[in-house]
Amino acid sequence: MFKNILLAFDGSAHAQKAARLAVDLARQYGSGLCVVHAYEPIPDYLGEPFLQEAISKRTEAADLVMEQARALLGELPQVETEVLEGPAAEAILRAADVRKVDLIVMGTRGLGQLSGLLLGSQSQKVLTHAQCPVLLVR
Ligand code: ATP
Ligand code: MG
Ligand code: MG
Repeated sequence: MFKNILLAFDGSAHAQKAARLAVDLARQYGSGLCVVHAYEPIPDYLGEPFLQEAISKRTEAADLVMEQARALLGELPQVETEVLEGPAAEAILRAADVRKVDLIVMGTRGLGQLSGLLLGSQSQKVLTHAQCPVLLVR
């Protein structure tokens, strides 16, 4: 039913639950799974050497988040990971279009502090604009 699933991962407890569910679905349907993580864009006004330093810091942090994701993925045969420059929702939507995925899996909330909210801003944006079904995991 699902040929290509995209998992949006920010390392949060919700995203970890989403990852486990995405893995189960990918196993069940023999789907390809692509995991994306977006890091916050770096402002252009930072001059050198601060710009390079800021980029390194963010990509290193993003790689750590990806390692965490990989650990949750186990031995799935068709997995790809992609680190993208954010904002997260835009990066997720772009990756979903480029890869022509037929399902996006993400948490209802992420690392944000407003735990009273039902939906985080990124999941809300993706749900609003996605061209394919979105599975929000709580
Ligand atoms: P907010 O960011 O609006 O303060 P929040 O952090 O609680 O609130 P979201 O950021 O919308 O909520 O997170 C919901 C889900 O979106 C996460 O569980 C994760 O699946 C995905 N997500 C959030 N940020 C990223 C990111 N930087 N890269 C990839 N996926 C992300
Ligand atoms: Mg946010
Ligand atoms: Mg967030």
